[in-house]
Amino acid sequence: MDRIVIANDLTKIFNKYKTNQLIAINKISIEIKEGDFICIMGKSGSGKTTLLNILSTIDDYDSGNLKILGYDINNISEKEKAKLRETIIGYIFQDYNLLDSLTIEDNICFSSIVNKDVADRKSLYDILKKLHIMDIRDKYPYECSGGQRQRAAIARALLQKPKILFADEPTGNLDSKNTIQLMKQLISLNKKGITIVMVTHDCKIASYSNNVYFINDGKIVKKLEKNNNVNNEFYKNIVDYNFRYMEANYEK
Ligand code: ADP
Ligand code: MG
Repeated sequence: MDRIVIANDLTKIFNKYKTNQLIAINKISIEIKEGDFICIMGKSGSGKTTLLNILSTIDDYDSGNLKILGYDINNISEKEKAKLRETIIGYIFQDYNLLDSLTIEDNICFSSIVNKDVADRKSLYDILKKLHIMDIRDKYPYECSGGQRQRAAIARALLQKPKILFADEPTGNLDSKNTIQLMKQLISLNKKGITIVMVTHDCKIASYSNNVYFINDGKIVKKLEKNNNVNNEFYKNIVDYNFRYMEANYEK
């Protein structure tokens, strides 16, 4: 399998020249193969969103190297990065990132509107139906619930048909029915070869992936692999590690 993401010693420092400097990502190296389904877990503030933002080219890093699908991110322009995010890199944001001046449908089709393409209606309605948001497509984001907005953000990323999809706690606001529906969608995309990198707090959801990385204080502290384990066994390992290590650290 080809390596779709190669990251070496990525480091991100916030407030670099201030007294409240924070090393949010501390020399993280990670390799992601095409077709992988990876989950990132860790307590709040451990650097999950920052890592996802860097790996998806949304955010810069201070040092290290990053290659995505052969593109050397150190050496490409902002314009080229934006092109990658429009085409091969998909992102489901933790805070949805929907525009309040556009309807849900126009938000979902935003990229094709900007690029004057015609959105693929059949795929669009298929996705809207599967995510149970067909009936809100003419509403504005502020008229929708958190869960509906989350599903709209998911639909926008799915419509783009990216090669690699980053998702930041995409089930955070979903009820169990919509969580199952989303996981079915993600598993089916992954079976079609789309690489998925997802942040989650939910051990059950993480057990659908192949590898779980735990991060703490901006470092990868553990990698759990599914290997030939069945979901149940992998789930037990994740819960066990989460409990033993992460829970112990929650108090600090
Ligand atoms: P997580 O997603 O795991 O909850 P984040 O990646 O959002 O964590 O944040 C990691 C750390 O970096 C936290 O301490 C957070 O307060 C800090 N941080 C995140 N974004 C910024 C920013 N733009 N400026 C300064 N500090 C930030
Ligand atoms: Mg976060």
